[in-house]
Amino acid sequence: MTFTLFPDTRLTLARDALAGLSVGDALGSQFFVPGRHPDDFAAGQMPAPPWQWTDDTEMACSVVAALSEAGRIDRDALALAFAQRCEPYRGYGPGAITILRLIRAGTPWPVAAASAFDGQGSCGNGAAMRVAPLGAWYADSTRRAADQARASAEVTHAHPEGVAGAVAVAVAASLAARARLDGDRPEPARLLTVVAGALDPAGEVHRGVRRAAALLGHPAGEVADALGNGSRVTAQDTVPFCLWVAATHLHDYPAAIRACVEAGGDVDTTAAIAGGVVAAHTGVGTPGGVPDGWLAAREPLPAWLTAPA
Ligand SMILES: [Mg+2]
Repeated sequence: MTFTLFPDTRLTLARDALAGLSVGDALGSQFFVPGRHPDDFAAGQMPAPPWQWTDDTEMACSVVAALSEAGRIDRDALALAFAQRCEPYRGYGPGAITILRLIRAGTPWPVAAASAFDGQGSCGNGAAMRVAPLGAWYADSTRRAADQARASAEVTHAHPEGVAGAVAVAVAASLAARARLDGDRPEPARLLTVVAGALDPAGEVHRGVRRAAALLGHPAGEVADALGNGSRVTAQDTVPFCLWVAATHLHDYPAAIRACVEAGGDVDTTAAIAGGVVAAHTGVGTPGGVPDGWLAAREPLPAWLTAPA
């Protein structure tokens, strides 16, 4: 079935995904603050606001701004936007800071991205953690979501696994948003199977997503032990678990975030990825959606995104 998706609908879906991504990021990062414990959260006690967002949200805001301004990803413009808006204290990894500094100084992004990690390129989470809103924007086409996710990834991530992580998350978010428009709730196994089908079968992210599908129904802690929880800060070690969480809890945003917190590891990133995909489906302030109180506890998004054009 084909249908027309108007720009306002795309932007609403992308902004809902961004709300879920940024709240997951900001809440997840609270567990790196001394004195704040995952056990308290599991018992229903929320960290005191404000919850500061990190690099995941800053970069995702640039992706949403790029789409709302141009309707597609222009790699040169996106690379420059990432570089110019980067506030290093937001938790960027040293590799990302080096790439973005090179781009800001005038190095073309293909050279800067390829120079990372002794010429192998980054297979970190940066491209995956910022891309869920892009997938929601392309709710009408998983193929477009995959193509544009690849373009958005390449400006910083030259390693095929870093790119695959972004493609996987974007395809999941596209399916999640599409299911919302259709009033549908995709079976977790089907969602993960479609995501795996968009990836190179020889890749590790592909293998991880297939394993995630085989682990549906198992406890989150056991799944994180098998797939990784982001503690190695690679896409291979992070994205499969996040998509297991999103597929399992697609109708329940707080449950998705709780699963990420319970699994530990790179919680701001796992909660940003899973939260972005789930919120593309649930929306904000709806039953099972991003709770209004959580959104209010999150530090406001940057003024350059929220200011009227
Ligand atoms: Mg972060």
